[in-house]
Amino acid sequence: MSTNLATVTPLIPAQAANDQLEQWRLFLAGKIDPAWRPTEWNAQAWLFTGDSDNPSTVVYRCRIANCGTLLRVQNSRCKPCELAFAASGMSDEQFDASYRRGPMRYHAYNPPGQCIAGSGSRCQRRAQSLGICRSHYSLWQKVRERDADTALTAWVGTVPSYDALPSCLVAGCEHETHTHSGLCPVHY
Ligand SMILES: [Zn+2]
Ligand SMILES: [Zn+2]
Ligand SMILES: [Zn+2]
Repeated sequence: MSTNLATVTPLIPAQAANDQLEQWRLFLAGKIDPAWRPTEWNAQAWLFTGDSDNPSTVVYRCRIANCGTLLRVQNSRCKPCELAFAASGMSDEQFDASYRRGPMRYHAYNPPGQCIAGSGSRCQRRAQSLGICRSHYSLWQKVRERDADTALTAWVGTVPSYDALPSCLVAGCEHETHTHSGLCPVHY
């Protein structure tokens, strides 16, 4: 491999770029009302999540009753529902009244709960299944292999708790990260 490659000089040195970014952040922070759209704007995470029930927010749900796909146009159907309509041979009214979407790949977001295990102090990790975190869940599986009659509710009060894991790097994500990527399994 050649070692004669020209050194690439960034147009803006890293420190200057960081300073510019910080100035820009401060400028924007000064322009935003901290009380703006309290149920939609998360000022700490700099994250806006539009609520289709807020008439000030220009986002609408697909008009098929159980669909919920977010759209930019009011009273319309999302692409999969529109394709199903085209194939149905029904009138608009018949289709809207009778068509319901099957299970979808994407589900509503459920914020994670806290693990219920821990004797003395409660485990600081997020619950994954059965109300316990991944680490407690793998311990629990071993306990069950040894004795299938052990009751989870009694067992959780007898095990030491774990310290919290770092939160996912994605703004507004409440899940924890288990890997060196800094991202939760959903975002990884
Ligand atoms: Zn739809
Ligand atoms: Zn736990
Ligand atoms: Zn995440």
